[in-house]
Amino acid sequence: MTDAPASASARRDLPPVMAGLAAQQRAASILAGSVAAPVHAYLFLGPPGTGRRESAVAFAAALVCPNGGCGDCPACRDTLAGRHPDVTVVERTGASILVEDARAVVSLAQRGPVAAPRQVIVLTDFQLVGQAAPVLLKTLEEPPETTVFVVLAESVSPGLVTIASRCVEVEFVPLDVSSLEVALVGEGIAPDVALGAAAAAGGRLDRARLLARDPGFASRQARWRDLPGRLDGTGATVSSLVGEILASADELVEVARERQREEIEAATAAAERDGERRLAGRQAIEDRHKREQRRVRVDELRAGLAALAAAYRVRLVTDGTSPRRVATAARAISAIDAAAGSLARNPNETLLLEALLLELDATS
Ligand SMILES: [Zn+2]
Repeated sequence: MTDAPASASARRDLPPVMAGLAAQQRAASILAGSVAAPVHAYLFLGPPGTGRRESAVAFAAALVCPNGGCGDCPACRDTLAGRHPDVTVVERTGASILVEDARAVVSLAQRGPVAAPRQVIVLTDFQLVGQAAPVLLKTLEEPPETTVFVVLAESVSPGLVTIASRCVEVEFVPLDVSSLEVALVGEGIAPDVALGAAAAAGGRLDRARLLARDPGFASRQARWRDLPGRLDGTGATVSSLVGEILASADELVEVARERQREEIEAATAAAERDGERRLAGRQAIEDRHKREQRRVRVDELRAGLAALAAAYRVRLVTDGTSPRRVATAARAISAIDAAAGSLARNPNETLLLEALLLELDATS
C-alpha cells in the first residue's frame, strides 16, 4: 500500500480538469508541475488505451484556462467539448502522417492564439510520422512562444527519434487492476462491476470503461472458456462455434459504436448552438472511430483467447498426473498464443479461428 499516499498527493496537486490523470501518477506529477510554465513541446508516450489522448486534452484545457484548469469555466468546457479555438487536435487523414498535413500544422503554429494567452496543438499517432518529420522538426524545436505542442505516440519509431529528442517525454504505462478499478469507481461505476471489468481490461482504461458498460461481458468470457468441451471432432461444429464467437465480438463493437454516436451527437449539438451548419472535422472523427472499432474487436478476441488458454491451463493442473494430457494442454496453449500473436497482422478472423479450433479439436 506504499503507493496510496503518492496517489492521494498526485490527486491533491492536480488541477480539477486533469483529475482523470490521477491513475497515471508519474505523468500526472510532471504535467501538474508544468501548467504554470509549460515548455514548448511534450511527447506523451505509451501503448494504446493508457489515456494519452484524453490526458492531452485535459492538459490543454489547463493551459488555456484563466484559472489554471478549474474544469468549470467556458475555456475548460469548450476544450473538453473539442471546440476551443486555441486547442487543436490534429487527426491523421492517411495511413501515416501526410506531408501536407504537417505543412498545415506548421502554419497553424505560426498563427498564434485567438482567445487564450497561448494555443495548444495536439498531434496524434505520431509513431506514424515517417516522411512528414523533417517538415515539422524546426517548428517543434522552436515554435512561437505562444504555441505548445503535445505529441502522442505509441513508441519512438525511427521517424520520430529526432522530434522526440526536442520534447519533454511523459510516459504513460498500462495500469494495474487496482488502479483501473479505482478509476472506474471514481467515474461512478458500481464496485463489483468495476472489479470484473478492470481484471479483464489488459491494463487499458478505455477497454475497462467499455466492459463496465457492457452487459454481455461475463457471458462472452464463459463462452470462450466452454469452447474445449463443445468441440466434437466435426468441422461443422467448429464453423458454428467460430460464427458464435465473432457475432459476440460484434456485440461489444456495437457498445463502442453507441458511445461514438453519443460523441458525434454532442459535438454536432455544440456546433449547432454556435450557429455552425455542420460539424467541422467530422470525417476525421469518423475515421478515428473506425480505427477504435477495429481495436475493440481485436482486444476482445485477444481477451477471449486468453480466457481459452486459461481453460487449458486449468487442465495442466488438474491433469497433472497424465503426461499425455499435460502435453496436449501445453500444445493447445501454444497454438492459442500463436493465434493471439497473429491477430495484430489483420488476418481473416474466421480462417484464423477455424484453423485454431480444428487444431485444438485434433489434439484433445
Ligand atoms: Zn477553467
